[in-house]
Amino acid sequence: MINELANLINNDSSLNGKLKVAFLENYNVSLAELIIPAANGSEQISLASKEASGTSNMKFMMTGAITLATLDGANIEIKDEVSNDNIVIFGMDKDDVYRHYERHDYYSRSIYENNPIIRRVVDSFINGTIPNIQGEGTEIYESLITHNDEYFLLEDFTAYVEAQEKIDQLYRNQEQWMRMSLINITNSDKFTSDDTITQYAKEIWQLKN
Ligand SMILES: *Cc1c(COP(=O)(O)O)cnc(C)c1O
Repeated sequence: MINELANLINNDSSLNGKLKVAFLENYNVSLAELIIPAANGSEQISLASKEASGTSNMKFMMTGAITLATLDGANIEIKDEVSNDNIVIFGMDKDDVYRHYERHDYYSRSIYENNPIIRRVVDSFINGTIPNIQGEGTEIYESLITHNDEYFLLEDFTAYVEAQEKIDQLYRNQEQWMRMSLINITNSDKFTSDDTITQYAKEIWQLKN
């Protein structure tokens, strides 16, 4: 699906020079060494409580990227180091997520039916907007609507779009952006492997010198 989306976007002349999608197959450390230092932004958008990214977010921060993230896992640790002013946080926190589990009150279909923008986005998986994705598109549509959107994507979607708008605005002010980037780099020492191994040795392995 991402390759078909790339075909669509990369061949749209109105987007030429503005937006390009590239999917890196067989992601590995050699590819990470290229893309992490080159990145201006780092999106860490897993649902709060799932702890999807543990260290990639730290690598991006350490090399000067600004993080756009949910309050999940190590994103929280990064926010604690750089403060809210130097990271863009959006969406539910883990308590909001757990509350949905307890109350069984998450209904993706009603979000879909009541929000025309979300409906348009979700429908694009099944209405031919993206060519050649009948099988994959139907599976994604069904996971979001028929199977009630396990990762609560639809609830966070509007906040995610606002976060994208915010980070666009920040990027337009290059002096402010560079300042944020430097603040991220200078606060990343907590995440060096030396510090992490020292902490593991003390707290988890309980080594005595
Ligand atoms: C850092 C890294 C990972 C682990 O990423 P997490 O965000 O901690 O899940 C996996 N693969 C490669 C190539 C990496 O560089």
